[in-house]
Amino acid sequence: MLGLLKLNWLLCSFFIVVGLTSAQPKNPFGNPLVPDMIADASIQVIDSVFYCYATTDGYDKGLETSGPPVVWKSRDFVNWSFSGCHFPSAVGQKYWAPSTAVAANGKYYIYPTINEFMYAAVADSPDGPFKLLHEPDTFYLPYTPATFLKPKGSEPPQGIDAEIFIDDDKQAYVFWQRRHAARLNADMVTVDTSYTTIPTPHQEYSEGPIFFKRNSVYYYLYTLGGDEKYQYAYIMSRISPLGPFEFPGNDIIATTNYERGIFGPGHGCVFNLPGTDEYYFAYLEFGRGSTNRQTYVNKLEFNDDGTIRPVDLTFDGVGALYQITDEKKITVVNSRASSICPDLIIKYMKDSLFRRTESFVSQFAFDGANGSRWVASPDDNDCWIIADLSKILTIKRSEVYFVRPTAGHAYTLEHSADGKTWTICGGHPDVKVQSPHVDNLDIKARYFRVKIQEGVKGIWEWNIY
Ligand code: CA
Repeated sequence: MLGLLKLNWLLCSFFIVVGLTSAQPKNPFGNPLVPDMIADASIQVIDSVFYCYATTDGYDKGLETSGPPVVWKSRDFVNWSFSGCHFPSAVGQKYWAPSTAVAANGKYYIYPTINEFMYAAVADSPDGPFKLLHEPDTFYLPYTPATFLKPKGSEPPQGIDAEIFIDDDKQAYVFWQRRHAARLNADMVTVDTSYTTIPTPHQEYSEGPIFFKRNSVYYYLYTLGGDEKYQYAYIMSRISPLGPFEFPGNDIIATTNYERGIFGPGHGCVFNLPGTDEYYFAYLEFGRGSTNRQTYVNKLEFNDDGTIRPVDLTFDGVGALYQITDEKKITVVNSRASSICPDLIIKYMKDSLFRRTESFVSQFAFDGANGSRWVASPDDNDCWIIADLSKILTIKRSEVYFVRPTAGHAYTLEHSADGKTWTICGGHPDVKVQSPHVDNLDIKARYFRVKIQEGVKGIWEWNIY
């Protein structure tokens, strides 16, 4: 009898442990580049600072809309931030795939797709403010006379996803959707009307072109498919940006990795770390489906004959590319929140092998991963999250990366020694469009609490120093 009781007790313990383990929420998104949903990223280094121009995703309306244009910046490739919008007249428009900021003629040019047509915009600084090259600096539907390509007869100026490449002889080229390419005139605005189509071995629909040169070899990368079936193929030329091209045998360099649960690596970029032979491949991933994608970066590596090796896709990122600080975050031992949004089961679109569930527990705001987040229940009108440092510590700074930061947030930051009596020590009552929201402090406390007053009720990451 005692033996049976013991066995029962053991079985119960076993089930409790299993229950706890299986209830432990997982983060299926790993650690994307920035704590927001972005797609179609173009990354470059200007004066030792990384700039990431991209499509702002996460507005839950598919291809009907987008978030506003912002530029994320980083000094180390780990800690990213943005402040406000860099193209004021494009706020409220559907804004996609802005390309890098191309330096020419003493200015910076970007080539975003706005309301599904490409435009050229200019600024004195890569931070903006950008404006259309041709006055008036306004948009209306379906398109304005300032489009980058011009209508042909009654045909609208077809095309999206401009990618600019400037060769060593200063000749500029533009590549866009459906394998199109053309020379770009020295004004960086007008396009040579003799368009060409890049001859690729795969002939299906293609967008998101990437073009770069390494060791006198030109590389043209183009997407195939979409959603979970998005992938990248490439061709190369040792002669000119417009060919003739070589067609390597193993030409799919990024595709779904089932083992790691990485689906549909698509529209991104390749960038080089200046002064090195280090190349990196950035790509969007299927994420939460539709226009709810995040962007990841892995190394791009080459064989001795110049061909590209298939990218070893991971969700871990490449870490710091420049070391600027050894400042360590304070570990948040426990956390709790006013509410937790129910799990989201993400539906597949093109691949029935796709399985993904997102959980929104409070500890996801402190796990160092840009793919996981705490989100409050939708009906929570007094939402808060508490960080417990386990003992009283001196705190210098709080950095909060809210969910959908491009729509702006207002919040209060409070501290407490006992978790009962709270004192306000930061935040702001007005809605600010930036990420992170930083409060410089010099406070001894064990607990910190953020109350969100305006904006999406969730936090990707909350760093405390
Ligand atoms: Ca997180």
